[in-house]
Amino acid sequence: MDKERTLILCKPDALQRNLLGAVISRFERKGLKLVGIKMVGLSDTELDEHYAHLKDKPFFEGLKKYMKQTPVVAMVLEGEECIDAVRLITGATKGAEADAGTIRGDFAMATPGNIVHASDSVENAKEEIYRFFNDDELYDYAKIDETFLYWKD
Ligand code: UDP
Ligand code: MG
Repeated sequence: MDKERTLILCKPDALQRNLLGAVISRFERKGLKLVGIKMVGLSDTELDEHYAHLKDKPFFEGLKKYMKQTPVVAMVLEGEECIDAVRLITGATKGAEADAGTIRGDFAMATPGNIVHASDSVENAKEEIYRFFNDDELYDYAKIDETFLYWKD
């Protein structure tokens, strides 16, 4: 199984609604390894790049305004095939439509306020991690639960 890294942004509503710990806890208890974390105030340039696929949408300016209300907490998580696994934990884009048990399904009602961003593909994860983290801000370390988490006989 391929070891992957994915980018998470805890969005301004996660901070304002005191859900940062709850969000991080969901990734922790799944067994994902935190390899980078920091608080970042997003610039227009970063948002234009990060949400380039939405630049022609009517909600684009509102989305940028929402993302700039407070700093966000950016994290890089690592795990075997973790990009898709993290998207499952995150849930569908619109909070009201997201499955119960997902972060968005449990904590969000709408868009753009849907608590978290998570990379959606190997290619995008690489690009997004590079956008927000320098190499020396990402850590390699052994985690003692890995033998049990990825047990193979
Ligand atoms: N968004 C929005 N209105 C929409 C669709 C998306 O405000 O109709 C916001 C929402 O915050 C979402 C972000 O734009 O998380 C990025 O959209 P994308 O389609 O990439 O969804 P995601 O990958 O976050 O599920
Ligand atoms: Mg997306």
